Amino acid sequence: MMRLTPSYETRDAFFSYLEELFALSSDDLFAMIKDFYWDMSGGLSGGPSSLKMLPSFVDKPKGAEEGSFLALDLGGTHFRVLAVALDGKGKATVRHSSQFKVPRKVMQGTGAALFDFLAVCIDSFLTKNRFQRNRTYDLAFTFSFPVRQTRVDSGVLIGWTKGFTATDVQGKDVVCLLNDALRRKHIDCIRVTALANDTVGTLVARSYKDPTCNLGVILGTGTNACYREKWSNIPKLKRPKHPGHMIINMEWGDFSRVRSSCYDSELDAASVNPGAMRFEKMVSGMYLGELTRRVLVDAIKRRVIFIISPDAVQRFKRKGTLKTADMSLIEGDDTADLDHIDSFLKQKGILSTFDDRTLLKRLCGFISGRAAGLGATAIAAVITWMDPDLKKVHTVGIDGALFEKYTGFSTKMRSVLDELLGGKADNISWVHSKDGSGKGAAIIAAVAAASE
Ligand code: ADP
Ligand code: MG
Repeated sequence: MMRLTPSYETRDAFFSYLEELFALSSDDLFAMIKDFYWDMSGGLSGGPSSLKMLPSFVDKPKGAEEGSFLALDLGGTHFRVLAVALDGKGKATVRHSSQFKVPRKVMQGTGAALFDFLAVCIDSFLTKNRFQRNRTYDLAFTFSFPVRQTRVDSGVLIGWTKGFTATDVQGKDVVCLLNDALRRKHIDCIRVTALANDTVGTLVARSYKDPTCNLGVILGTGTNACYREKWSNIPKLKRPKHPGHMIINMEWGDFSRVRSSCYDSELDAASVNPGAMRFEKMVSGMYLGELTRRVLVDAIKRRVIFIISPDAVQRFKRKGTLKTADMSLIEGDDTADLDHIDSFLKQKGILSTFDDRTLLKRLCGFISGRAAGLGATAIAAVITWMDPDLKKVHTVGIDGALFEKYTGFSTKMRSVLDELLGGKADNISWVHSKDGSGKGAAIIAAVAAASE
């Protein structure tokens, strides 16, 4: 592919160019907030929009829901099966949980094989934890892909994201596919009562004990958010006088009105879903390492970094050789000589100078800084949509390893939020809503059971 960047003779000039390329100006961010409002409004009315604004058919819990529920969590690299107990006083406890790695060939094989894989995992979970097979367990299925729902317990996959491509699932009801697979494996003790997205689970899990939480965000393999909307503000539901509220799964990873660089375009073109999920590809854990790797390879080829290691380019040539978790380690290296970065590079067979290590750390900072800034701006957009003058206190429930583990990510988000909203940003706080996709799903199952 022809590269549009000019050639740079010195490392300083090239890295200054990169810094500017990934920088977010205030003008960019305020424009993005306006574009967010525009696309939120378009999505809610069913018009053209890069935000799908999918109704979830569930509202926030009241905090008094109780009982024991099973939950499934599929949406990234792992599949989890959980048993969760709700005490009716805002506390959800995971009693049992098992995690299974989803092999790439299962993610990218046939739909039947994928759902059979889930059923086998469920079977082993039930056996391991001695669940009785002669009674019925209510289960909520957290399925974190864009799904069109018309009720809480069914939904049709609109399209895969995050590297999944399993055939014969798009356009189908995923609860039916799960039930079919359970029947094939003779698992008759499960009743699927709710289908949810992890972002909805995250909001629900936090709001079970905290009524100020009206926004749930995922910053993990992918990125997404949901918030609480009035039925009367959702024209596509055609219930203008309905007095209630519903959680809307925004599918914000697909937001397309972002200024991207040539490296983003290359990453997108090489992905399994070119053209889609442009915001997610700039923000989330599945992509940040890969984006940084692409820029790094370009820098090595231009001979502005790792000059003393002639075959450095070979070490970063393959996809996956620089992970988002590696970036976090690199940015977290506070030793005087950047020793942690040095050992990371040595493990790859790369000798580096102190300047090389400083530049690598800077590069990671450009890319994670942009990701955190975009995430914070999207949060500001949704909160000011709900409360334009920021009169109320808002808690954002956030889940995902990027938010939880990436060195300095939350701090960078905070500084962009402060820059955008000034003193009013003090009304917004975020908390790690741990295990929203598991606990939250169980709460959704309880809400669904209560409204039957
Ligand atoms: P999911 O979104 O699939 O539920 P997680 O919330 O566990 O999964 O997020 C997984 C993503 O988080 C991975 O794509 C990885 O890039 C990123 N990640 C994992 N560990 C770290 C880490 N230590 N620092 C930064 N990012 C990490
Ligand atoms: Mg998750």
